[in-house]
Parts: sequence; C-alpha cells; structure tokens
Amino acid sequence: MARHRNVRGYNYNEDFEDDDLYSQSVEDDYCISPSTAAQFIYSRRDNPVEEYGYEDLRESSSHQLSDIDQAHLYSCLDHMREVLGDTVPDDILTEAILQHKFDVEKALSMVLEQESVQNLKGKSERAVPAGKLSKGKSVGSRSSQSESKIVSKVAKMTVSGKKQTMGFEVPGLTSEENGYSVHTPHRGPPGDDFSITAPNAETSTPKSVLQSPSVQVSDELSSTPTPVKKSAKLKQQIDVKAELEKRQGGKQLLNLVVIGHVDAGKSTLMGHMLYLLGNVNKRTMHKYEQESKKAGKASFAYAWVLDETGEERERGVTMDVGMTKFETTTKVITLMDAPGHKDFIPNMITGAAQADVAVLVVDASRGEFEAGFETGGQTREHGLLVRSLGVTQLAVAVNKMDQVNWQQERFQEITGKLGHFLKQAGFKESDVAFIPTSGLSGDNLITRSQSSDLTAWYKGLCLLEQIDSFKPPQRSVEKPFRLCVSDVFKDQGSGFCVTGKIEAGYIQTGDRLLAMPPNETCTVKGITLHDEPVDWAAAGDHISLTLVGMDIIKINVGCVFCGPKEPIRACTRFRARILIFSIDIPITKGFPVLLHYQTVSEPAVIKRLISVLNKSTGEVTKKKPKLLTKGQNALVELQTQRPVALELYKDFKELGRFMLRYGGSTIAAGVVTEIKE
Ligand code: GDP
Repeated sequence: MARHRNVRGYNYNEDFEDDDLYSQSVEDDYCISPSTAAQFIYSRRDNPVEEYGYEDLRESSSHQLSDIDQAHLYSCLDHMREVLGDTVPDDILTEAILQHKFDVEKALSMVLEQESVQNLKGKSERAVPAGKLSKGKSVGSRSSQSESKIVSKVAKMTVSGKKQTMGFEVPGLTSEENGYSVHTPHRGPPGDDFSITAPNAETSTPKSVLQSPSVQVSDELSSTPTPVKKSAKLKQQIDVKAELEKRQGGKQLLNLVVIGHVDAGKSTLMGHMLYLLGNVNKRTMHKYEQESKKAGKASFAYAWVLDETGEERERGVTMDVGMTKFETTTKVITLMDAPGHKDFIPNMITGAAQADVAVLVVDASRGEFEAGFETGGQTREHGLLVRSLGVTQLAVAVNKMDQVNWQQERFQEITGKLGHFLKQAGFKESDVAFIPTSGLSGDNLITRSQSSDLTAWYKGLCLLEQIDSFKPPQRSVEKPFRLCVSDVFKDQGSGFCVTGKIEAGYIQTGDRLLAMPPNETCTVKGITLHDEPVDWAAAGDHISLTLVGMDIIKINVGCVFCGPKEPIRACTRFRARILIFSIDIPITKGFPVLLHYQTVSEPAVIKRLISVLNKSTGEVTKKKPKLLTKGQNALVELQTQRPVALELYKDFKELGRFMLRYGGSTIAAGVVTEIKE
C-alpha cells in the first residue's frame, strides 16, 4: 500500500527502449521474418505429428524443392498473403501449398477451414464465416465483401497499432485446449518474448519460451511465468456473474483489512493465523523464531510472517506490499495489512478504501485498551475511518486475552465501551462481532479455544469462523469498469504493471483502457489475480495489470482506469457534503486539507462554505456560513491542486466517498455531490 508512486526495479535506460518500441511500425516491431517466426509456432514435444510434418516441409521447401518449385511456392505465398495478411505463419501456408500441390485456392481453403473450425468452437461471435469462403471459390472470384470481412478480422487482431498476438490454432482444438498463444516478440526478457505455451500446459507455466526471436528455441521452463494471453480475436463475451460463481471452486472473494492501534498485535495475530492455516511452512517459521530470538524480539516471530511477505513483495514484481491470500471454508480472503506502516494512517486509508470487511484488533491488557481508545488513539480513528470508507462489517479481535487471564469481565468491559462507540460511528450492532483472542498463543484463531478459562464463558465463533461468516459484498459487475491504482511498477518486459481493486465492471485481456488522469489509453496485456495469470477479472478483485501502449511516467498511484466508452471524469473543483469530526480549530474558507480518496492523497483547499445542513434531514439550516465546527454536516466546494478522477456518490457509492485530513488527523468524511470542472 505504498502511498508514493512506487516504481520498483525501475531501469530508466529501459525507458528509451520502450519509447523506441512504441514508435516502431508493426514491421519494426516484428523484427524477424514471418518464416522465422513460423518455426516457433509449434512445440515439438506436444505436437509430434504436426511437428514432424513441418520439419519435413522445411527440409523440402528449402533443400529439396527445385528452383522452379521454390519460385512457385513464393508466388503462391504472395497470393495467400494478399488475402490473409500476416496473420498466419509461413510454415502453415507452405504446408497447405505443398499439400495441395501449389493450388492456391485449395491451400487457402485449407487454412481458412482451420480458422473456421476454430470459429465454430464458439470462441468468437465476431469471427469471419471462413468456412463459407473456403467452399470451392477461387481467390479471384471471392467477393470484395468477403475480402473486407477478412481484412476486418485481421484488423481486430492488432491492438494499439501493433501486432499484439498471432493466435493460431490447431484444427479441432480451441486455443485453451491446444494452449498455444504467441506473443509479440521484442527484446525483453522471457515474459515478454515470443513465447509459445505448450499444449496442455498449466496456464501459468509456459513450457517452452523463446529467449528472443532471433535466438534458438529453448525448451526450458520460463523463470517468469507469463500470463497466457488470448489473441484479441478470441475475446468473447463472458457471463461474468456465472463465471464468478464458478471461480475459486465456488468460493467468494473477500477483501479484508486489519486495523487497530499500534502494538495491539495485528501482525502477530494474522501471522499466527496464516501459520496455523498452513500458509507458512514449519521450516520458515522455525527460521523466524531463531532470527527473532537472536534479535532479542522472540515475541515478534509471528509478526515476521507478514513482514517477510512484505519484504518479498518489495523485491518481487507482482503485487503491492502487504497483501496475502488465505482461504476459509467458503471464501478466498485477500488480507491487506501494512506491517511496515502500522501507525501511518494514510496507508490505512488506502487499505480500507479497498476493503470489504475489517478486523479491528484491540489490546485487552489493562491500560493498553484505554490508550488505544482515548482521543488520539488509533482504535477510534480507524473505526471511524473504515466506516466512512464504506466498510460495514467488522470483527473485533479482543486480543492479548492471555494477559488478563481470559477474564470475562475485562472482555465485557471492552465490548461495552467499544460497542457503544462503533454504533455511534455507524456500524449496525448485528454487523459487529467481538472475539476474544490471543495472537501469541494462537487461541481462538482458527479453531475454537479448548482452554477452560475461555470455554467457561465464551461459546461464540473463533476468528476464522467469523471471517468466514462475513456476508460477501455486492459486486457492481454491470457498471462501467473502474480500477483505482494503488501501485505502479515496471515489469521486466515492454509494458508496466499497476495494482488495484476493481471497483466496478470487469476486464479481459486485450481490452483498451483509459487512464484518468492523464486521459490516455493503453491495452491490457495481462491480468494477475492472487499471483495467477487470468483472462478476466471483475469488480471486487484485487488484481495486477500488465499494460502496454502507455508511458509509465504518466501513471501515478490514484489514477483511475476505466473503459474508454464510459470514462470517469477528472476534475479539480467539486462540491461535497461533509461530516466534520472532532476538530480543534474551526474550518473557514480557504482551509487547506489533504484529500484522501481511494488511493489518492492530494492537497486541496476548502474553496467555499456553501451551507450547513441538518444531519438527519439534509435540509439547509444556514447559508454561506463563516465557519464550520465539530460535528456539523455541511455542503462545501473543494479545489484540488491536480486533477483527480471522481464519481458522484449517487452514481458510484464506492467512488464517491473521501476523507479530509489536516495536521495529521482526520477532520472530515465526505461524499461527492457535484463535479464542477
Ligand atoms: P501490531 O503493531 O499491532 O502489528 O503489533 P505486533 O503484532 O507487532 O505485536 C506487538 C507486541 O505485542 C509484540 O511484542 C507481540 O509479541 C505482542 N503480542 C501480540 N499479540 C499478543 C498476545 O496475544 N498476547 C501477548 N501476551 N502478547 C502479544
């Protein structure tokens, strides 16, 4: 949850390479001859019959053909290229030509037939009726309308003016079945090379990857798993809702943020839970124990589980810091925790803005709970913040119960005080659950505690059961696509990666996206969900996108990606209804604030105080007030330094909420009512 624009592993020299690449024409980009490329289309291991044929043909075409036949072959190839463009590799065409004894018409029919089989497989509604075209008509007699259809199909296969993919499929197999997917070659590392995924390979593990088009085939496993991308022509309409239900073995996805006062035991609690769930192996845990003992911090061993994950991610290139996945009986949980920034509220806002539910950890030890709960303590502020950011369900882990001998009275004292406060903050009583825990001993985390001290008075759920019983939030998959960038980093290839949560809509590889600001478009080259490459993702998913066709320099944390047809608006002036928290100095015209909106943190000023509103009815009680004080509800106009992409609260609840901070504390929560300019 880096607040800053985090460009990890960024090599500035590569910028120039990328720029070069973008400005190249398709031919430049595709810097090997089609015949060379064609050699790499098939994998020997997985398609022995076909492979055998091609080896033979190559032999025959280059060595055994007479000069006349050779010339004949080239002439036929030219004819076929006129119709097919560069979409089919030369070897395929050569095979067809030789098989049909230089009869271009028949060869074309064969190639188109293959295409049509693939179309009939139902992969694309937009596919050309190639089967019809191939039925006995000569190339010359083919109507111009048919040709235009073919041309338009070719055009669809190119994305952002470059040849993005060159999908070719073995007849009778869908691309998924045959597993081939050929990506645009360039000088990057394996992940972006001209990679061929072998049939039946695990989608995430390409079996054969070419280091570079000009270098020989390597059968070694790619060190960087490359998402298997479908060619744009294969993009099909998906029933997102149905697919979502099928995904993850029918488990629902839930984004969970862990909040609470510093030292309440958040990292220990979640680290221990992950260990008990088997997400950390015994050896690693032993290592942490030894290391933490050596460092004189034996009690931090479990906290290091999360810290270590964070470190790994710092070094790695996939996801944002502090995100871990674990599973419950019915759910797949994305855990957001900012162990390195536990007392850094802006980070917590970013996490909470992307969360569906929260675990609030409080320290049950005498004096400690009170310290966190006092004004200035993070228990209150975090509780208020998550609610204002749209989190409605909360599990309160009353932690370190071992410190108070699992006393029921202490538990009740805490639940009483906190329950009252949370109700005031806007949580429904039925949506808040209190669970006594000990992160250190692991009691009541993933199984109900057997300790008689606790079972004597507590019959409720353990923490994991509570997390499992959270209601999954509504996913706005029907709405236009929106994703707020929480991190930006350079990947090893031509493009770059952004991470964030899809707030609305869904996305498929090959989609064009618009980034606001800077109001520029790019293409989705790959989607990663929980470190696995996927073809699509939908509202609620925390994903990493590999993007091409845009300069990384233009993208910042806080940018919103949307569909170009239904863009989000970017503005510097907007009106909002705000609820003022406990503040020391009243808010006046020109008051400087820090606007926290989703992953954005932007300096702003309160430009105008329009009116004071009645808290419950929303009626104007005073027009043009001179100042605003604690607890008031008001309509104000805000001006930001740079443009921010916003939505009206009435249209997009998730994207219409924000927080205002001043001098290190949160002074107001607000909802956008009008976008000015
Ligand atoms: P965070 O700042 O909220 O992430 O807290 P940490 O997980 O770093 O824990 C702070 C300290 O509290 C560490 O020394 C932990 O060992 C200790 N601690 C955490 N959970 C428990 C618990 O359940 N019981 C006891 N006795 N100590 C705990």
